Amino acid sequence: MESQMELIRPVVKAAAKANVPEDGDYTDSEGLLVCGRCGTRRQIRMVVQSRNGPVEMVVPALCECRDEERKREEADRKRKEDMEVVKSMRRQSLMDERLLGATFDSFQVTADNARVLRLCKRYAEGFDEMLEKNQGLLFHGETGTGKTFAAACIANYLLARKVSVVMTSFVKLLSMQNQDDEQLIARMNRAKLLIVDDLGAERSTDYALERVYNIVDSRYRSRRPVIFTTNLSMVDMKGNTDVRFSRIYDRIFELCYPVTFAGKSWRKADAAKRYDEMKAFLEE
Ligand SMILES: [Zn+2]
Repeated sequence: MESQMELIRPVVKAAAKANVPEDGDYTDSEGLLVCGRCGTRRQIRMVVQSRNGPVEMVVPALCECRDEERKREEADRKRKEDMEVVKSMRRQSLMDERLLGATFDSFQVTADNARVLRLCKRYAEGFDEMLEKNQGLLFHGETGTGKTFAAACIANYLLARKVSVVMTSFVKLLSMQNQDDEQLIARMNRAKLLIVDDLGAERSTDYALERVYNIVDSRYRSRRPVIFTTNLSMVDMKGNTDVRFSRIYDRIFELCYPVTFAGKSWRKADAAKRYDEMKAFLEE
């Protein structure tokens, strides 16, 4: 918390500077210093209580142009601070170079994913409401259809607006063996949006599934949204009768709106293109 002193220090400093007359400054009819630039007073008369009763003093004050300057500097400092916060949130997230640069503008739009892009944008732009309703998303579809990239676009959109987002995966969370789960969960739940990438890739031991359930359930109880990405199909998830899995999935379905990522896998499309290019180069 900022102390009272920290809050008024810049004002006191600026006012003390303001007491030194500069070229163009003049003294008005009441004997007070006036700024030559903006024409407002750089000094005020004040009555202070002393042991011998009230004493009138002349004290430095900020004229309008200096006050504006101080506000600009203060806003600048605040902006830099905010940028640092966003940078550190990004660093904590599980994002590689490609994902750090993921934005809606860099989204490769195809006939298959235009709907998904529109939906992700709408979710990000309406995040305040999504947060209030505790509404998450479940991105499901084949490997390489852009689910993680789409989630990172939402993360970066929100991070740029100083909304706290943590992007991680159960694989990563479960590998943090010596971490106290309670603490880990508390830290994650401070984020307004949690993104859990690649649900279903984690180990399926009783112990691991118990921890996954605890994380999902605590997020559910904290009433804050989650976006999951998964290669599991809706049939896999809904049809799973093993209670160790189904209680996890049931929670997820309660929290998350399912979004299908269809279409040709980008990685496959890329490989096909390379194949065609190579074929043309070698054989034609
Ligand atoms: Zn001035």
